[in-house]
Amino acid sequence: MTQPFLSIRGIQKVYGSVTAVKNVTMDIAEGEFMTFLGPSGSGKSTTLYILAGFQDPTAGDILLKGRSLLATPSHKRNIGMVFQRYTLFPHLSVGENVAFPLRIRRRPQAEVADRVKAALKLVRLEGFEDRMPANMSGGQQQRVALARALVYNPPVLLMDEPLSALDKKLREEIQYEIRRIHQETGVTILYVTHDQEEALRLSDRIAVFSQGEIDQIGSGPELYADPATRFVAGFIGDSNFVDTEIVAVDGKQARLALPGGGIIDGVPLHGAVRVNEKASLLLRPERIDLQAGNADGLLVGEVRDITFLGNNIHVLVAPSGAEPISVRLPFGHPTLAGLAPGAMVGMTFNAYDAHAFAS
Ligand code: ADP
Repeated sequence: MTQPFLSIRGIQKVYGSVTAVKNVTMDIAEGEFMTFLGPSGSGKSTTLYILAGFQDPTAGDILLKGRSLLATPSHKRNIGMVFQRYTLFPHLSVGENVAFPLRIRRRPQAEVADRVKAALKLVRLEGFEDRMPANMSGGQQQRVALARALVYNPPVLLMDEPLSALDKKLREEIQYEIRRIHQETGVTILYVTHDQEEALRLSDRIAVFSQGEIDQIGSGPELYADPATRFVAGFIGDSNFVDTEIVAVDGKQARLALPGGGIIDGVPLHGAVRVNEKASLLLRPERIDLQAGNADGLLVGEVRDITFLGNNIHVLVAPSGAEPISVRLPFGHPTLAGLAPGAMVGMTFNAYDAHAFAS
């Protein structure tokens, strides 16, 4: 078996009575863009700080090309870092900020000048060497931080919510730049965010964190199409959850009774659920179809609200005895003609698009 490039093995971190990270294990390939995604407090930053060497784990190990990093102090790990708040030295020019990692490595002046120039070019700030950080926008300052982190060609770059202080438009612009820089340099990136859209846009794979553990690791499409847990299903993509009852179980599939009496067979089943127990059924708003009238449909309900969202239409449908369900139809869908709040509609969906979770 080939040796993984970066290996996080059974990392745990306990602070007094708080277990910030319970058990995190993953392998990261060279050149991969891996994102830690999860809500606030789920242990993403703590895991990243342990990689950076700012914290020691209570248990577990980190191996880079098969060698443990734990005994190596932070500044000798050769890992680049970019954080949420601008961490530039305010009294140093842009050029000197970027040169800093090379100066502490005592690189010759000619090499420093060349590398600073190349790093600033990489982040599209050519010629900004003499500017002071205070005279730059937030986005520009984060680009300088990125140039400084990459100037000595570290094999691994850690980024902790680097864009969260920027407004949406600037954030998207710099996301694009980060992608380009990742492709151009081939650096392995570990990126922390709580923003699913950012994670989907940037990553090769995403590790979904929940309460100090990883629920699932996969590409964006894998997590969306086949979520391993209800938490992942709710965190990636838009979702409805419907309370159902298990009628029969056949291996990894279930037959479910829906609110209102509809029955659906062949729904992929996650977790240990038994006949007659309750299960939570995931329905993606864009994978539900609507028919006018109440004759057809696995679920029948009353239209509560219709919202035009440009290329699609959001319809909120309330089945009796269940929470309202969000449905997204493409513009021009035939059922939309003449549809108004108060109308009864039938909802249909394919069993293989849905997922049942133990609830
Ligand atoms: P995230 O990055 O996902 O928001 P963190 O890794 O920052 O999560 O935190 C995980 C948990 O550990 C939280 O409950 C947080 O309050 C706790 N925690 C983090 N750092 C410390 C610390 N230095 N001392 C005590 N508890 C901490």
